[in-house]
Amino acid sequence: MAQDKNPDNTVARSVRASGDDPNPRGVYNGRETVNRRDRPDLGVVSEPARAVPVFAETDVLVVGGGPAGVTAAVAAARLGARVILAERYNHLGGLSTGGLVVWIDRMSGWGGEHLIQGMAAEMLDRLPSDAIRGPKRADWGSRDEALVSQWAPRHTAFHGTVTWAPMIDPEWLKIVALNMVEDSGVELLLHSWVTAPLVEDGKATGAILESKQGRMAVRAKVVVDTTGDGDMFAQAGEDFDGDAESDDIHHCANTASLMGGVDVPRWLQFRAQDPDGFREFMRGGRTETSHFILPMAGWRDDTVVFMGPRFSGFNVLKVDDLTALEILSRKSIVELLDYFRRRAPGFEDAWIMLTAPQLGARHSRRLAGRDVMTGTGTKSGVILPDEIGVSPSLSPNLPEVSVPYGALLPLKTDNLLVAGRHISTDSQTHTFMREIPQCWLTGHAAGAAAALSANSGVAPRDLDIGDLQSALTKQGAFVRANQTS
Ligand SMILES: Cc1cc2nc3c(=O)[nH]c(=O)nc-3n(C[C@H](O)[C@H](O)[C@H](O)COP(=O)(O)OP(=O)(O)OC[C@H]3O[C@@H](n4cnc5c(N)ncnc54)[C@H](O)[C@@H]3O)c2cc1C
Repeated sequence: MAQDKNPDNTVARSVRASGDDPNPRGVYNGRETVNRRDRPDLGVVSEPARAVPVFAETDVLVVGGGPAGVTAAVAAARLGARVILAERYNHLGGLSTGGLVVWIDRMSGWGGEHLIQGMAAEMLDRLPSDAIRGPKRADWGSRDEALVSQWAPRHTAFHGTVTWAPMIDPEWLKIVALNMVEDSGVELLLHSWVTAPLVEDGKATGAILESKQGRMAVRAKVVVDTTGDGDMFAQAGEDFDGDAESDDIHHCANTASLMGGVDVPRWLQFRAQDPDGFREFMRGGRTETSHFILPMAGWRDDTVVFMGPRFSGFNVLKVDDLTALEILSRKSIVELLDYFRRRAPGFEDAWIMLTAPQLGARHSRRLAGRDVMTGTGTKSGVILPDEIGVSPSLSPNLPEVSVPYGALLPLKTDNLLVAGRHISTDSQTHTFMREIPQCWLTGHAAGAAAALSANSGVAPRDLDIGDLQSALTKQGAFVRANQTS
């Protein structure tokens, strides 16, 4: 089992990308060495043992308030469990808000079926109409050329098909997530960095968190790790993988940025109607900036998001690497602002609205769980008996993907569940199971399972899968195995 592999600790490269890349044929010219400290071994210090006050007791402790954490907490609370949700930053939504990943890619099947429903759908339904931009329900799955050419530049039509992959306003998604958490009775702890799980006799019994108040313990019957980086399961002693290809987009990290003051329709018109000018613009970008990337049209006609430039060769679990990524990302966006203002129609008055408060880590640890979702398995089209939801496939010639409960279950630690981008998959499957809708889906399932477990005293691994599927269906999730049983 590989752990925290970092194939290249000294060289940062921006890379040619695919998958969630807005510019599949984008060209990147950066190749530079980042001066990171070669840290000598300075020995250790010993901390005195200390008693840690118990701050709270609860049924379910959800660690991390990103997409998976929010749906987990809400699902558990709606099933009657007492829930604490702990988040290290000052807002909910994780990378979907603080990381400025405002493109919610993708909840519909290629025939337009609404696959990822439940809490994911509720979250989007609760956004005000001017905080979300995407095709109307009747158009999902359409292959109408006019509709496809309307939505393709806005990243909502692929392979000649209109899909449900809207752009959202991150500030409103924070508010919607907060409202859902509050309405369902979840006890929210912001500014709380959870530093270690509590594990007794092979069972998770809570966690230690650090805040301005100091070090505190929360006792819980079930812990849900939705940190994205497996902070809880790694420290609980679970095995994990970290073997994404170093040159692959899924290994890359960066801090995203929003630009305001843009005339987006004019920019899109330039791209569509002036191929020679656009080619020249691209050529200039590659030579005049260190790390060239194109933006994505945002949810408003005056806003774009730069989801990159992406950098590879970094380990997002290391503080020196995180620091280097922040510096590189911010220097790059200043260069891009200058170039786009000078050369991109529609960007003359552009300004940097926000560099993301949360660094964008696509991949760090992946749980080695009871079931591992693999490329072969997900392409088989088999409906798994422990299905907890259905993910769209990557292309129209692949079947929809049955997501198993076993991918959320650690092998060793009882009363611990895992949801979000670090669930148990191979590196290939991680490429789409890490997307926001899929994280909403697995969070929803983990939260429901945690509540059923806490309410009944049955360990998560021993839960009756039919009971879990029924609970999920009652909460609006789309689960096929349940429909046939
Ligand atoms: C640049 C970039 C572009 C992407 N593009 C897309 C895209 O276009 N569409 C798409 O759908 N997906 C995209 N993704 C993927 C997607 O954003 C993430 O995989 C998804 O947000 C993961 O959700 P999560 O809940 O698992 O984790 P996260 O979103 O990472 O949330 C984890 C939360 O836990 C908190 N946390 C972590 N550790 C602790 C701790 N120890 N104590 C307390 N709190 C903690 C964090 O602060 C965070 O709020 C992209 C990702 C990146 C980085």
